[in-house]
Amino acid sequence: MRVWVDSSIVPAAESGNVVAEVVGWESPEEIVIIGAHLDSWDLGTGAIDDGAGVGITMAALELIKEAGLAPRRTIRLVLWGAEEVGLLGASAYRDRHAADLDQHVIGSESDFGGGRVWKVTAASQSEAGDALFAHIARLLAPIGIAPGRSDQPGGGPDMYPLIAAGVPSLRLHQDGRDYFDLHHTADDTVDKLDARSLDQNVAAFAVFAWLVADSDVSFRAESE
Ligand SMILES: [Zn+2]
Repeated sequence: MRVWVDSSIVPAAESGNVVAEVVGWESPEEIVIIGAHLDSWDLGTGAIDDGAGVGITMAALELIKEAGLAPRRTIRLVLWGAEEVGLLGASAYRDRHAADLDQHVIGSESDFGGGRVWKVTAASQSEAGDALFAHIARLLAPIGIAPGRSDQPGGGPDMYPLIAAGVPSLRLHQDGRDYFDLHHTADDTVDKLDARSLDQNVAAFAVFAWLVADSDVSFRAESE
């Protein structure tokens, strides 16, 4: 076996989060976050990690806009910057929004390639949250998504700083059986993506984001 390793340390450079919103008509200050990360590892093109997630979540927001739907709460798409080097964009977002994190209803990141979603979980701590989660899961079942637990955090890596700060999360678990064959390698290229799988992901994100944003449900513990 021959192993070729080539590494270097490059100077720090500026990055940024890219944010787009559909502003809620009733409670614009209450935020539902969807998103993915913009940067990628240097060997491949970043189609799988995380171009897929960027496309999925942008398309979900576009679908809601195209349908002419206006949610009660704001849906905020965040394309996180500098994820690969240590969740820097997500940490900066948490710091900038420290005063209004309690207005963040729930968040979810798509960051596991372009495979089909097979399970949904959420971190609900309220009965109303459990009920809305069950409703979302029922609507997602026909596109092959199984209901998972409603008390399990994990909305994608860029959600970790927000989850640690108390923001509820939801995860659309993808089939990632080939993910680590491609992840951070020169084989991370767009030919590995499947349009039908991406469509299914877009549908799942649109359903989840719309239903939570057009509700007044809190996933936080009732005493909060
Ligand atoms: Zn990633």
